[in-house]
Amino acid sequence: MDERLLRELELLPVARLYGLATPAAREPAAPPEAPRQVAPVAEAPRRAPPPSRLAPAPQSAPAVPAIAPPAGVESMDWEALREAVRDCRRCGLCEQRKQAVFGVGSPTGPWLFVGEGPGAEEDERGEPFVGQAGRLLDGMLASLRLARGREVYIANVVKCRPPGNRVPTPGEAAACAAWLDRQVELIAPRVIVALGKTAATRLTGSEGSLAGLRGRVHAYRGIPLVVTYHPAYLLRNLPDKAKAWEDLLFARRTLDAALARP
Ligand code: SF4
Repeated sequence: MDERLLRELELLPVARLYGLATPAAREPAAPPEAPRQVAPVAEAPRRAPPPSRLAPAPQSAPAVPAIAPPAGVESMDWEALREAVRDCRRCGLCEQRKQAVFGVGSPTGPWLFVGEGPGAEEDERGEPFVGQAGRLLDGMLASLRLARGREVYIANVVKCRPPGNRVPTPGEAAACAAWLDRQVELIAPRVIVALGKTAATRLTGSEGSLAGLRGRVHAYRGIPLVVTYHPAYLLRNLPDKAKAWEDLLFARRTLDAALARP
């Protein structure tokens, strides 16, 4: 994306973003669905600094306890990995799932978005972010001239639905960590966007507040990482869409900076 287009995006009124003022926004609400219980967000207004501002070291030890990875995961290709996740029983979330939700999108694109875990609709359809939160995420991507399946891959910290759409436990995130890590290795994205507190904690290794983690470039396995709100949170906190837009532009600039490096 060139600088002129990026500046035009920065000048867009937030009300026009993510379908807020489009016909799509006036469609009837989706069928009742248990609201996603994304991890809580502590408030602290912040304006995104330039990408050159690197995040300090994590405030505390990673919340994800170490669990031995599945045998052979480090040599799995994409299809082997997909099959292994489909059959995985490494944590209790396998008991009530209809299916594991591997991810969706382009496995060769520069963008990787990581959310928390599948909800009821995702569990049913086998694809992440397909409910109201998914439509909002699609709107967020469209605002950046992106779409799932084109330049973008979307995955979750845990691949199976937590019962009642609760937040995954650190143990469940740890059990699933090797699958996400192998996805990151195979995709080799140029920027990662963590959607919400669970993904931010998992990928930054910090227990700091989401507000405190926004607006900085972190790194996950050497890949630039930017933190923003989970779309399910934004559905209930409309004013924070403006902050999420700042984060997306920040991520865009972070990607551009990464691509400019030799
Ligand atoms: S959540 Fe992850 S670790 Fe747990 S059963 Fe599903 S795929 Fe396996």
